[in-house]
Amino acid sequence: MNLKLVSTICPYCGCGCGINLVEKDGKVVGVEPWKRHPVNEGKLCPKGNFAHEFIHRNDRLTTPLIKKDGKFVPASWDEAISLVASKFKEINAQFGPESMACFASARVTNEENFVMQKFARVALRTPNIDHCARLCHGTSVAGLAKTLGSGAMTNTIKDIADAKLLFIIGTNTFEDHPLIGRRIVQAKERGAKIIVCDPRFNITAKQADIYVQHRSGTDVALLNAMMYTILTEGLEDKEFIKTRTKDFEAIKAEIMKCSPEWAEPITGVPADTIKKIARMYATSGASAILFSMGITQHACGTDNVVSVSNLALMCGMIGRPGTGINPLRGQNNVQGACDMGCLPNVVSGYQAVINDELRKKYAAAWGVPDLPNKVGLTIVEVMNAIDEGKIKSLYIMGENPMVSDPDINHVKHALQSVNFLVVQDIFMTETAELAHVVLPAASFAEKEGTFTSTERRVQLLKKVVSPPGEAKEDWEIICAIAKKMGVAGFDFKSAEEIFEEVRKVTPQYAGMTWERLRKPEALHWPCPATDHPGTPILHTVKFTHPDGLGIFFPVSFKPPAEVPDADYPLLLTTGRMIFHYHTGSMTRRSATLDNEVKTGFVEINPVDAKALGVKMGDKVKVVSRRGEIEISAKVTPNIMKGIIFIPFHFNECSANKLTNPVLDPFAKMPELKACAAKIIPI
Ligand code: SF4
Repeated sequence: MNLKLVSTICPYCGCGCGINLVEKDGKVVGVEPWKRHPVNEGKLCPKGNFAHEFIHRNDRLTTPLIKKDGKFVPASWDEAISLVASKFKEINAQFGPESMACFASARVTNEENFVMQKFARVALRTPNIDHCARLCHGTSVAGLAKTLGSGAMTNTIKDIADAKLLFIIGTNTFEDHPLIGRRIVQAKERGAKIIVCDPRFNITAKQADIYVQHRSGTDVALLNAMMYTILTEGLEDKEFIKTRTKDFEAIKAEIMKCSPEWAEPITGVPADTIKKIARMYATSGASAILFSMGITQHACGTDNVVSVSNLALMCGMIGRPGTGINPLRGQNNVQGACDMGCLPNVVSGYQAVINDELRKKYAAAWGVPDLPNKVGLTIVEVMNAIDEGKIKSLYIMGENPMVSDPDINHVKHALQSVNFLVVQDIFMTETAELAHVVLPAASFAEKEGTFTSTERRVQLLKKVVSPPGEAKEDWEIICAIAKKMGVAGFDFKSAEEIFEEVRKVTPQYAGMTWERLRKPEALHWPCPATDHPGTPILHTVKFTHPDGLGIFFPVSFKPPAEVPDADYPLLLTTGRMIFHYHTGSMTRRSATLDNEVKTGFVEINPVDAKALGVKMGDKVKVVSRRGEIEISAKVTPNIMKGIIFIPFHFNECSANKLTNPVLDPFAKMPELKACAAKIIPI
């Protein structure tokens, strides 16, 4: 047998696990452990173990498709690229650059994302570039940038095992980031205490020494009450506050309004439990915070993240091994897509587009007079702007808003009414079905490039097989459109050549080369020079703000934008599960994973179920102010009374038909984690 093992990176979650793809006769036929990979040391979760199963599906997109009379017709690349280029030029000339928008992708490479934001800003001259970080960690970036000066995970995955206490809030780590879950187990084996705060008694909560079941959307009340205990008992780190931070006095008045007794009826957590976990966090010697979308996907998500940061700064739990603030990124390259500037307010390296000096320096490196000098529209704002007739064309690479975005009925209406929709993907997704032109892209096994994992680790992706049919790498397609439009600066010959341009304009990546990554060196950004070893732990000496200080900001509790009432008496929250990934476009096409969980369900507490006359497995209607779905009931005491949970992976019972598109005012991120709903037995 002629088998070849190629070491590469898992295409799914932000852990960035190493895998060996097994190649035989031009096909990927399996996955084998990469035992010396520093993150996962050969261990894989179910998604990683079966990461090869979707690659050679016979429903892969293999040729460009143009919609004619409502039906897709195969087209040559020349025909498709010519059509896209001419329509983009026509719309740009008729309605102006700001009538155009691009969505980049958290599951394509850094190089492809970099080229997409360059295309938006240089070829289309639009500020409207965003991607699905807006739906998961936009508020982490905004909140941590305010307090620490940098919006990324502060410590490494391996470092989690060195914590003496793990404060895990709003993340089901064992399902969503299983190989980080392994480090939680290691920490526990070394004697660490584990506190898990979540409205669901999920798999992660089962590992906890103390499980805190707080109501969805009450995180600030819980965190402020913890800080109240820490302050009133004198447990804060006074030396750290004095030497490393500023504006501590500014938060005291707010914190002193939030006693644990005040928080108890809001959060549903007994005051004594709040006091107990506050003391444990403040006195462990090395406490690390892990959080994910339970914290971020709220209309007060930035406040939640700032509140988390206030807690860590107050106790000096940052800048040392075993401590830190660790937002766990969902998709495998969501960190990289942000780093590459696929955000409407920054170019790569988080350089603000409204900073004239930075922007002009950047434009000069690209050989153009200037770049759009205003903050563009975010994902949900683009959908609204289509409805208002302001956005006329949308170019989507590797994203599926018809499943991932809030208020799907509204998204569908917007995508059906935009003048020109181009979707580039590996499968005919629910979003691609609505496009005017569909462009077939290469999967993770069919291209080279880099991914940046949740811990800021930059890693090389290897090409194992050729793309099917005429599919091409995303960067090749974008460059072909730009060149057809007559725009200079897109003559790249390889992904490595793109990375060289990334290094020139992105200070955090300046010292990384593919040569170093091939070794492989463990390079965590920032890595400013080729002899720099990378930075596993951030903020060891100073924070990223110009004066080097961490900043406290007062935060007051605000309930979710929609709370249960007489018409919609339940609070709906959404989330993920171990066998599926994001919108299911890959995992639902993986036979093994699909077989594990075929469709969605709604979790409902037995007390609520009894009151409604609903039994396990019954079909019910779940209704919100935006839509309704039919779905099976899963009656379980794991979910708090008054709250229901639906995984968002499943289009046929889409949780996001129900969710609320109300936005966090700072990060413009929708409140996917809390809306009012009702259940009707059928
Ligand atoms: Fe892949 Fe994440 Fe599973 Fe690792 S933990 S194998 S990166 S899905």
